[in-house]
Amino acid sequence: MAITLRSQREIELMRRAGAVVADVLSKLKEIAKPGITTAHLDSVALQMAAEAGAVALFKGVRAPFSQIAFPGAICASMNDEVVHGIPSDNARLCDGDILSVDFGVRLDGYCADAAITIAIGDISQERRRLMDVTKRVLDTAIEKSAPSVRWSQVAAEMQRCAEEAGFSVVRDFVGHGIGREMHEEPRVPNFVSNELLAHDVVLAEGMVLAVEPMINEGSCGVRTLKNGWTVVTKDGKSSAHFEHTVAIVKDGCRVLTVKGR
Ligand code: MG
Repeated sequence: MAITLRSQREIELMRRAGAVVADVLSKLKEIAKPGITTAHLDSVALQMAAEAGAVALFKGVRAPFSQIAFPGAICASMNDEVVHGIPSDNARLCDGDILSVDFGVRLDGYCADAAITIAIGDISQERRRLMDVTKRVLDTAIEKSAPSVRWSQVAAEMQRCAEEAGFSVVRDFVGHGIGREMHEEPRVPNFVSNELLAHDVVLAEGMVLAVEPMINEGSCGVRTLKNGWTVVTKDGKSSAHFEHTVAIVKDGCRVLTVKGR
C-alpha cells in the first residue's frame, strides 16, 4: 500500500482548496432554512466553486457498481439518508430536518473534501445529540492524530465516543487518503476491524487524510436506494456526518478545510 507523503508546499495548496470547501459549507449552513431545496444549495456550491477557480469533485463521479454519474456538486443527505444524497428540486428542507452536506473541490491540482450536518430550524433533542456526538467523534480523531500513532488507536477512540453515547458507526463507508485525487490510499475507517488491524497505518508527517465519521442513531446497517447513490439507514433512524481534510504535521494534525485564504 503506497501512501503519498505531501510536502509543505503541497499541503499549503491543499489548504487553499480546503478554504474554498470551508467557505462553501459555511455559506450553505447560513442559507439552509425551511423551504429551501437541496437543488438550490447545489447551485450555490457550484457557482461559488467556479468563482474561486475550483472544480467541484463529485459531479459526474461514477458509482462503483453502476454507471450512474453523480449529478450534483454536493451530496445532500437528509435525516435517515447517510451519504450520497442527490440534490433535488423535490427535496425541500423542513423545520426539524437534519441535512448532511458533503463537498469537495480540486484547486490548482490539489483536492480537499469536507462535510457538515446542519440543523434546519428547531430539531429534536435526539437529533441534536446525534449531531453533537458525530462532531465530537471527528474532533477526537483530530486530537489523537500525530506522527507514530497507529490509525487503529485513533479509530478505537472514535468508535468508543460514538458507542458510549448509544450510537453506532457506519461500517460500509470509510474515509480516505486525499491529494491530487479525491480518493487515495489509505482507507481511513472510523471503527476497528480485523482488516484494519491486519493493515494498520502508522501515521507519518506529510500524510493527508479525509476523516469522515458517519454515525447512526440506531443500528449501523445501511442500504442503497434504486437511484444507485443515496445510502439510507436500514432502520429508518437518523444519521449524521462530519468530515475534515487533515494533514499530519510534526507535532500533531492540522485541519486544512478551514476558512481563511
Ligand atoms: Mg470524503
